[in-house]
Amino acid sequence: MAVIHELRCPICGRNYHPNAVEYVCPSCGLVGTLDVLYDYAALRRDVDRDRIGQQAEQSMWRYKPLLPIEPDSKTPPLRVGMTPLYDSGRVAERLGLKRVWVKDDGQNPTGSFKDRASAMVVARAMEAGIKTVSTASTGNAAAALAGISASVGMNTIIFVPASAPEAKIAQLLVYGATVLLVEDTYDVAFDLCYQMCLEEGWYCRNTAMNPYTTEGKKTAAYEIAEQLDWIAPDVVMVGVGDGNIIAGIYKGFFDLLQLGWIERIPRLIGVQAEGSSALFHAWRHGIAAQDMQPQPAETVADSISAGLPRDRAKALRAVRETSGAFVAVPDNKILAAIPALARLTGVFAEPSCAAVYAGAERAVQSGLIQDDESVVLLMTGNGLKDIRRAQQSVRQGLRVKPNLDSVRRALQNR
Ligand SMILES: *Cc1c(COP(=O)(O)O)cnc(C)c1O
Ligand SMILES: [Zn+2]
Repeated sequence: MAVIHELRCPICGRNYHPNAVEYVCPSCGLVGTLDVLYDYAALRRDVDRDRIGQQAEQSMWRYKPLLPIEPDSKTPPLRVGMTPLYDSGRVAERLGLKRVWVKDDGQNPTGSFKDRASAMVVARAMEAGIKTVSTASTGNAAAALAGISASVGMNTIIFVPASAPEAKIAQLLVYGATVLLVEDTYDVAFDLCYQMCLEEGWYCRNTAMNPYTTEGKKTAAYEIAEQLDWIAPDVVMVGVGDGNIIAGIYKGFFDLLQLGWIERIPRLIGVQAEGSSALFHAWRHGIAAQDMQPQPAETVADSISAGLPRDRAKALRAVRETSGAFVAVPDNKILAAIPALARLTGVFAEPSCAAVYAGAERAVQSGLIQDDESVVLLMTGNGLKDIRRAQQSVRQGLRVKPNLDSVRRALQNR
């Protein structure tokens, strides 16, 4: 039913038939990450909001009629999506806001939001009869692809810079991916991956190159809307590196608005680390995506470190079209936010999400959010992904001798 209407380039506005182009806009190159647009009039007629809500399917596939896949196509078995949206009165009180929800996407099967995109890409690969998928990534995207592929017995080939942290490489190897440790940067790994995909016919999941990653990621926006009984919140806040997540969230709300299922798109506020804030600067100074230049990128929040964000065009559009904003927060605030958020919510999040909490404080202080507004904070990755940074954010445990005196003394001196 959900027949893809067309692929459209957000830079030059050209339309392409989905069979004609597999990845980016042929005339704009890498900056032209394509939108996947549907025949919304047909969807309005054929898909019913309340029927979707009544389904037993508790994963992102409950939205299958709104996804670029045939109704009877198989999908990976792991439970991706339908993550909890916690109504957190304590965070609201601390931030001085009317209502705050925390959406915990760290509960996805490989521990991050990236599972949504990888599940979508693997489902499309299965539909096309492709046997091998590949991506370049240092982190969660690769882990997600390796894990989702493992669940359906698909081959995965991952290109990572040889300098990538061991812990992240371990997750890939455990899932059985072939891991190529490229003796150069992420950008070089990215290009090698793409070239090999073209040569070998592997399906390429590279961020902001494959147009369907955002179609998986948009399901988080659908869930937020559905979990709030189809009343969109005033603001959704997201950590931003390459910009593909915020682009996906925008796309989800955009679809729902076309369908008439919500009345407005929330303002989207992207949070960057001060040390990796290319989009924050481009937004502030009104720079177009095509004119952005690579910047140095250095932050404790490795998942949002990006010198030249690959989905910059769609990330800027998401913020500009919704009258949203970008904020940038320093690393010390990001680290401090890890335990702050965990103690207020019980959600242990990785630094890129702690940044969102720190960004919310900043957005309230600077008047970007009013105190009578409702806000969703998107937590995209599990805190167990980056134990080193978590440990840096807290004091050591209390060391004691194995006797009660020592225990009592330690507790007194706490
Ligand atoms: C990838 C990622 C982000 C940032 O997403 P972009 O699409 O690069 O902006 C934020 N948090 C986590 C946990 C991620 O894995
Ligand atoms: Zn184009």
